[in-house]
Amino acid sequence: MSISESDDIYDCVIIGGGASGLACAISTARTYPKANILVMDRNPELGRKILASGNGKCNIDNVNAMHFEDVTTFFKSLGVIFTEPDSDGRVYPLSRQASTIRDACSKELQRLGVKIKLCAEVKAVRIVDSSTTYEIDIHDIAYIKKGKGEKERFVKADVQGEETLYQIRTQAIVIATGGKAGPQFGCLGDGLDFAKSLGLEIIHTQPALCPLIYDDRSYNNYEKLAGVRAMGQVNLVRDGHVIYTEFGEIQFTKSGISGICIFNVSNRYQQGDKLVLDLAPSMTEPAIGALLKDKKVAGLEGIVHARVAALIYDMIGSKKAYEPLAKLVKSITIGIKGTSGWGDAQVTRGGVQMSEVLSDTFESVHHKGLYILGETLDYAGDSGGYNLDFAIYSGIVAGCHILKKDNKC
Ligand SMILES: Cc1cc2nc3c(=O)[nH]c(=O)nc-3n(C[C@H](O)[C@H](O)[C@H](O)COP(=O)(O)OP(=O)(O)OC[C@H]3O[C@@H](n4cnc5c(N)ncnc54)[C@H](O)[C@@H]3O)c2cc1C
Repeated sequence: MSISESDDIYDCVIIGGGASGLACAISTARTYPKANILVMDRNPELGRKILASGNGKCNIDNVNAMHFEDVTTFFKSLGVIFTEPDSDGRVYPLSRQASTIRDACSKELQRLGVKIKLCAEVKAVRIVDSSTTYEIDIHDIAYIKKGKGEKERFVKADVQGEETLYQIRTQAIVIATGGKAGPQFGCLGDGLDFAKSLGLEIIHTQPALCPLIYDDRSYNNYEKLAGVRAMGQVNLVRDGHVIYTEFGEIQFTKSGISGICIFNVSNRYQQGDKLVLDLAPSMTEPAIGALLKDKKVAGLEGIVHARVAALIYDMIGSKKAYEPLAKLVKSITIGIKGTSGWGDAQVTRGGVQMSEVLSDTFESVHHKGLYILGETLDYAGDSGGYNLDFAIYSGIVAGCHILKKDNKC
């Protein structure tokens, strides 16, 4: 590794051009128009994860989220208008295209004259000059374009030889690098390492808003259901007690179970927890037993998916044991080995402890001029727009305060 010196000094450097970083850059530049602001991202384009959010439609917020007004007002100021909330309160850009959100941010950054450095991977962050200046080590990544038209994409170039680092300095630094969820979008947990190296407390991280994986015993029973989608109630059971319940579509896969309700369960899952599924939540156990016994329904197949019915018959070993059949429909127990990996996760549970930042500015309690935003913090909201709500809000708020105290601009 070789290091080249640079004289670049900024008022504010934002590491990460994702949801929180972009909101922060706009908010800072609007508040301090003369400031010399730089946004850096390791990707060859801004907001890669935003583009993938909400299946490409970007579920930007939720009417029930804490910061709905702040976030939607901010985007309205960028010329973005929204759908009416759906039955769960979810809100999307009216275009139902995530690119509307990302492009509106890019355009505003350009208008405000904020500098953007892409393909720039931050390697380390240090405090110099007794905590009034930060120094950042950067490595430029080389990408090449592959494919044509809609299939065009950037692929990391295979560069031989040693890595060259260069350095920049800044008065204020914003860590907006996300967490570890979605490494394919550039999030590898670097911000947590930077925060740790500056002495901040990190809460253990684990993938969340993701599928849950069967333990070995459950795998033998339930892998046969791969491809089945069933409506039902999911109970998360810890030490024999139901600690959380969700209702929705449960998707059985080869290795585990998925679906939005399972994603929300994964946000609370701990090692050793089990799932108990009720696949007929609108009916009581005796009512199901009576329907089967009195032949008022064409077998279990008339109540649950035919493949689930076949499995339940198999597990009970009889088609006439009406009470046990009814009991199992309402209490299918699934042992869980863990969550699926970071590549399937939409958010990171854990991260920089919330008490490390001031709640009204997101500035570090210990280091002046250091800000931690979005998913790098220990915040993991449920599916439905809550995570973008928090990330964007943290960026807007921090941007109003960065540089303020010292009147640097
Ligand atoms: C597939 C998917 C779908 C989702 N859909 C939704 C949704 O519809 N609604 C919702 O509310 N939430 C959704 N989320 C969650 C939401 O996108 C994130 O919580 C949110 O984007 C976090 O914002 P952030 O600014 O903290 O981090 P990110 O948006 O993750 O941005 C971090 C940026 O930092 C860059 N970076 C990281 N390390 C470095 C480094 N060392 N040097 C330079 N750059 C670096 C990354 O490249 C990245 O661009 C989804 C997540 C995924 C993965």
